[in-house]
Amino acid sequence: MEICFATNNENKLFEIVHFLKNTPFQVKSLKDIGCHEDIAETADTIEGNSLIKAQYVFDNYQIPCFADDTGLEVESLNGDPGIYSARYAGPQRSSQDNNQLLLQNLENSQNRQARFKTAISWVSETEKEQFIGIVNGEILSELKGIDGFGYDPLFRPKGFEKTFAEMDVTQKNTISHRALATRKLIDYLTNKK
Ligand code: IMP
Repeated sequence: MEICFATNNENKLFEIVHFLKNTPFQVKSLKDIGCHEDIAETADTIEGNSLIKAQYVFDNYQIPCFADDTGLEVESLNGDPGIYSARYAGPQRSSQDNNQLLLQNLENSQNRQARFKTAISWVSETEKEQFIGIVNGEILSELKGIDGFGYDPLFRPKGFEKTFAEMDVTQKNTISHRALATRKLIDYLTNKK
């Protein structure tokens, strides 16, 4: 059965294809199905934005589809950057700029609690499901580590001594928010009739 993963991110695609390799599911990317539109993420929640993407693809391309969306939610910033995680410092800014702004905004904050949240939405003709993965942790006061991407050098998951950027990719991919949500999706897809 062909299904679409509404992403153009080759790393995410590779990971999912690997997870689903001995199942009846054949994963197609947006490029594979000829979808080149920029799907506007106009919802005000991570869950809403992942649903917009999956629903858009199902409605326009009639292929069962899932989409993911991730945000970093910082307690003392009332959940920011949240849905703005990718463009926290501005639309064309880098992860480095986002990290600097985050450090600046937390300069006088004792409370450094934060969490990464991934929402995956699955939409088919008869189904609409959501799978959430959350990792709690804290924001350090300086960057640590060179691996990973985005906010990884500032985020230390609870119960660990290392930031995500100090972990090797296998360790991060075992405990991450995205891994938790992805595992729930895989369980659902492989156990449904
Ligand atoms: P996306 O929705 O997965 O593309 O994520 C939105 C933004 O959140 C990205 O541009 C990254 O800045 C950040 N982000 C998502 N996942 C992670 C992660 O695992 N570690 C660090 N930053 C992340």
